[in-house]
Amino acid sequence: MKGKTDKKLEQKNIKPTAMRQLVYEILEKQKKALSLYEIEQQFDNVERSTIFRTLKTFQDNYLIHSIDDGTGAVKYALCDDDCTCKPDDLHIHFLCNKCGQTHCMKDMPVPKMDLAEGFSFENANFVVKGICPNCR
Ligand SMILES: [Zn+2]
Ligand SMILES: [Zn+2]
Repeated sequence: MKGKTDKKLEQKNIKPTAMRQLVYEILEKQKKALSLYEIEQQFDNVERSTIFRTLKTFQDNYLIHSIDDGTGAVKYALCDDDCTCKPDDLHIHFLCNKCGQTHCMKDMPVPKMDLAEGFSFENANFVVKGICPNCR
């Protein structure tokens, strides 16, 4: 019998290891994006570099995406099952000015942009700032 976590990892061609299962489960139970530091806080005795490598593997396989929300710490959140982090998969993020938490607005795709000739679109970081429902 395989657990839900193993299935999610294998779906993205990631071999499930104990470390990967734990990091996935931490991200899965959060409703917000987490920084490397916040993930590290969930462990007693794990090297930051081990967590970082795990996150890198996840990101390379489109299991998670990273968000630069302007706070100085890159944050990570799970991707949808069919995400390949292409421009069409990108969505807007919301940073709460009060609690500092960053949320995925998965129903809000990044708007299409008509760039000047010769410029090609690869990625965008759209961060909306305001007050989240928990803080109002
Ligand atoms: Zn908030
Ligand atoms: Zn997101």
